[in-house]
Amino acid sequence: MLQDHQLHAAELERTFIAIKPDGVQRGLIAEIISRFERKGFKLVAIKIVVPSKEFAEKHYYDLKERPFFNGLCDFLSSGPVIAMVWEGEGVIKYGRKLIGATDPQKSEPGTIRGDLAVVVGRNIIHGSDGPETAKDEIALWFTSSELVSYTSNAEKWIYGVN
Ligand code: GDP
Ligand code: MG
Repeated sequence: MLQDHQLHAAELERTFIAIKPDGVQRGLIAEIISRFERKGFKLVAIKIVVPSKEFAEKHYYDLKERPFFNGLCDFLSSGPVIAMVWEGEGVIKYGRKLIGATDPQKSEPGTIRGDLAVVVGRNIIHGSDGPETAKDEIALWFTSSELVSYTSNAEKWIYGVN
């Protein structure tokens, strides 16, 4: 059974998740949020925003040399995005599992991209790929006052601490 200090550490792990404009336009917001929520992860920040092209370029800075970079940034800034921070034990790595492989053709059934997307350029969701990118992306998209720390009544049932 987890001890109190471990639960505390679990609470501190956070990842940045975004529903891209295709996911929003296709009416998949609730479907995607429910997969993270039902798993037992905790939503600590959420907003709807249309990122500027310049902002999209910052978000995808690491991919700036890739041939699809310009189109990708045009796409991310083409409409509303749901920006979120999710918290929980192992949420960065497991969030990526829930999302599935970058190319939906290679994503397993049962994953978000596997179940709900077909091509790599329209793969509906973004998730941080590690602790450093999670930290950077959360700081890029949210101010610290937009992150809400709270205790969920479900936590003792999810983590087995009471
Ligand atoms: P992710 O972390 O799984 O989202 O994948 P990456 O960080 O490698 O790439 C970021 C995003 O760029 C992906 O989610 C895709 O939307 C897009 N992307 C990646 N590879 C390709 C590609 O080969 N072609 C196109 N058109 N888009 C790509
Ligand atoms: Mg990535």
